[in-house]
Amino acid sequence: MSNTPISEIPGIRDTLRASFRKGLTRPLEWRKHQLLQLARMLQENVDVFAEALHKDLGKPKFEAYAYEIGVMIERSVDSAKRVDEWAKPVVVDAQDWQRPMQPTIHKAPVGTVLIIAPWNYPLALTLQPLLGAIAAGCCAVVKPSEIASHFAAALAEKLPKYLDSNAYRVVLGAVPETTKLLELQFFYTGNGRIARIISVAAAQHLTPLTLELGGKSPVLVDPSFDVTIAAKRILGAKMQNGGQLCVSPDYVIVPRTHQDALVSALKNAYAEFYPQGSLVSDSISRIVSPDHHSRLMDLLNRSKSEVVVGGRSEGNKKIELTVFKDVQPEDSLMEGELFGPFLPIVPVDSIDEAINFIRDRDHPLALYAFTDDPKIKQRLIDETLSGAIVFNDVVQQLAFNNLPFGGVGPSGYGRQSSKYTFDTFSYERSGIDVPKEAEPFLAARYPPYNEEKLKI
Ligand code: NAD
Repeated sequence: MSNTPISEIPGIRDTLRASFRKGLTRPLEWRKHQLLQLARMLQENVDVFAEALHKDLGKPKFEAYAYEIGVMIERSVDSAKRVDEWAKPVVVDAQDWQRPMQPTIHKAPVGTVLIIAPWNYPLALTLQPLLGAIAAGCCAVVKPSEIASHFAAALAEKLPKYLDSNAYRVVLGAVPETTKLLELQFFYTGNGRIARIISVAAAQHLTPLTLELGGKSPVLVDPSFDVTIAAKRILGAKMQNGGQLCVSPDYVIVPRTHQDALVSALKNAYAEFYPQGSLVSDSISRIVSPDHHSRLMDLLNRSKSEVVVGGRSEGNKKIELTVFKDVQPEDSLMEGELFGPFLPIVPVDSIDEAINFIRDRDHPLALYAFTDDPKIKQRLIDETLSGAIVFNDVVQQLAFNNLPFGGVGPSGYGRQSSKYTFDTFSYERSGIDVPKEAEPFLAARYPPYNEEKLKI
């Protein structure tokens, strides 16, 4: 499917803005219908979307359904059920004399919004913001990633058949098309470098922005936790989407004395998950493009760390799950977010060193720690900052509809998932309604001022 002609973009924007102004997206019954239509679109086209994800990423059907299509069906239906509650005005507390003025927060849709999505979980990361925008009563332009081109084409074909095109549109394209769109309210998911370009555009229009970015999410493995279970949980999640996941465990920090035990548990888990090796397994996604493959191979070739699992590549889109030990902070693997099937292990000599290692770097999207020691848990809560903190598992936080998802500092800002996406696209508009009966009391504010009025 070809890109949306740039000349059509202003017209699309004008149509959506006119619909918003007319109030098309306001009625709650209409929003619920659109949300259920979104669920229906997914349900009736499971195979179309699963096939597209497979063509884009070699994504196994299990992962396509369990982590993208199924979750989005569930969340669309759930949002339709809960939107009445979310959209209710909230009366806030006030001083006695103010209560008759009914201080209220009204949930106002912010307008026509732009959703710029990445390629790694193309369906979930395009539709999760969209369903929040629908629930909040916004119109939306959806710009899927050109890198996941099969998914983008499938969405552009199916969405207009289920959702009202006066309110929701898919724009296909890359940088020129996105640049043209950058006058709407933005919800951007992607990397930090492009986020800075998006932020500059947003500043020019004073447009609110939500940034869902990435970074290096560390995993601390403390000897107090069962190392066999820790290894399985880390490796299982690391290989979701071939490691191309924003909250993927990026590197592991472990006491030096415990490193070999961890390596051996990781080897066992690897042998159990991929008896024929990960290169030939069909339970694994591949690297999205030859460019991303070369980036990862360059990191691998420059690394001076010891490879203890994997290390091979095949063609221009497959790399074996590779575990490295004794990784030094200056190694190529520690330069930036890995976003691929590499797992470096960094040995440390104390918990203080581990905490300092984390604190010396950008606040990650997630911090994971395997430990049964409550003191270590508390220290990590008190002494570090990250989008999420997860004990004794990795990536599992994504399964919780009612926990906010997002980053802090360089890992992004703004929140999503369920009610939090609704809130992102709603403006909390303050309101009061002052009864005329309050006039005798309020009259004290009028001039002329005198000593008598000061006593009130
Ligand atoms: P990407 O290449 O798909 O880019 C994201 C979007 O930005 C695309 O729609 C693309 O067309 C657009 N874009 C690219 N260059 C642009 C430019 N110069 N001007 C305007 N728009 C432009 O995805 P990516 O950025 O490589 O995604 C991977 C990154 O996303 C990783 O860092 C990952 O951690 C992060 N990520 C974060 C989350 C999250 O929810 N926090 C989820 C997934 C991915």
